[in-house]
Amino acid sequence: MGMIIEGATGDWEVVIGLEVHAQVTTASKLFSGASAAYGAAPNSQVSFIDAAMPGMLPVINGHAVEQAVRTGLGLKAQINKYSVFDRKNYFYADLPQGYQISQYLQPIVGKGVITIDLKNGETREIGITRLHLEQDAGKSLHDQHPNQTFVDLNRSGVPLMEIVSEPDMRSPEEAAAYVKKLRSILRYLGTCDGNMEEGSMRADVNVSVRRIGEGYGTRCEMKNINSIRFMQQAIIYEANRQVDILESGGTVDQETRLYDPDKGETRSMRSKEEAHDYRYFPDPDLLPLEFDDAFIERIRAELPELPDDKKARFINELGLSAYDAGVLVAEKEVADYFEAVAAGRDAKLAANWVIGELFGQLNRTGKDLAESPVGAAALGELIDLIKDGTISNRIAKEVFEEMFETGKAAKAIVEEKGLKQVSDSGAIEAAIDAVIAANPDKVAEYRSGKDKLFGFFMGQVMKETQGKANPGVVTDVLKAKLNG
Ligand code: ADP
Ligand code: MG
Repeated sequence: MGMIIEGATGDWEVVIGLEVHAQVTTASKLFSGASAAYGAAPNSQVSFIDAAMPGMLPVINGHAVEQAVRTGLGLKAQINKYSVFDRKNYFYADLPQGYQISQYLQPIVGKGVITIDLKNGETREIGITRLHLEQDAGKSLHDQHPNQTFVDLNRSGVPLMEIVSEPDMRSPEEAAAYVKKLRSILRYLGTCDGNMEEGSMRADVNVSVRRIGEGYGTRCEMKNINSIRFMQQAIIYEANRQVDILESGGTVDQETRLYDPDKGETRSMRSKEEAHDYRYFPDPDLLPLEFDDAFIERIRAELPELPDDKKARFINELGLSAYDAGVLVAEKEVADYFEAVAAGRDAKLAANWVIGELFGQLNRTGKDLAESPVGAAALGELIDLIKDGTISNRIAKEVFEEMFETGKAAKAIVEEKGLKQVSDSGAIEAAIDAVIAANPDKVAEYRSGKDKLFGFFMGQVMKETQGKANPGVVTDVLKAKLNG
């Protein structure tokens, strides 16, 4: 699955490591009581602490700490019982403190792992290096005035988890699968809403290339990418740029680059030489975080079933294919919906309906599952009508479209439109007789060995009965009549 770039002198392998910033789901900021909600009027959610007024002291948000531990456990990671907040010093207009409170040498969470799901149904394990807590900076607004920059401090102090991966990914697809899986896990855990458009999840993307079998090459980092598609484009562009440099005898400079989605290219922001010296030191205003085992075990005991476990259960207990199970568990809402439909029913049939018909209609109409006019109970009732022979699978698809359009119940539509399947062999026999009488030459051909014509007769009988004949009964009676 690795991405290989062919150069004039040989093949190059792409190496990717991601640093994902995920906004912690919690009501207030990391060190103040101001709201951390998205979308408020500029500077309406700024406490004295967030504005760095002199003499203000940070107070840790205990829920944000729990959320970080919960996330660490969900990533099967080492929870560090002792961790430290450090000051990362730099000057910028949207950082009123003159430093960001972050964690450096002693983060709250250490090594973990994420299993990514690839298109061919295979999985790969990507190492997590660490997860630490830090506060976000404010936002400079450059587009409000022709020659002034404004600052919105609503984001100042918003709690973030920075989740750092090992350089274990080898293609844009793997990087995309990693971000998707991470987002899925965070959403299951309820520790980050994963909304990339609102900036609650964004990635710094590190890319290098190497000749196959050699050690890691020099990397470049592309900051703050907030779409999976842009991330993949940036990786492809950047990897090719590096190969071109190396093939022509140059060296890659370690630098921070910016991806410009309009131009589809990356350009340099600053090189390693210009990199900040942040002068990290432990924040004297904050005590180290110390946990006991009971605290960690309490959170572990509350963990929900996560996507990998759910997928395994759908495969092993419900008999779904790995592909179907993977599709159904990716979003928790979809998994819950599916489980409600499948409860007490044929799980494979339920999976087919959710993945095939329901997703099809949602796609066609551009709706989310939450906006679906057909709830899980309503879809379940439709499936019951197929199972008890009231309607055929084909008619059920028509009924479903109508349910989706009108929000009506399956039973009501079947009644109203008279769609009940005809299983009464008398009525079916009459239809078959009519078809046989109308096609004497085809009957002769069939009887002289042209078996393929059976499908033609089936079609004619279904047409004669407006699709309502029970296909099983038609098959039996038709065979008897044609062969008899
Ligand atoms: P920094 O904090 O300076 O960005 P780190 O050592 O923490 O440096 O690494 C940051 C990210 O870079 C990690 O996600 C890591 O996997 C990735 N990375 C490290 N080396 C390489 C490499 N040679 N190629 C691609 N990614 C790399
Ligand atoms: Mg970095």
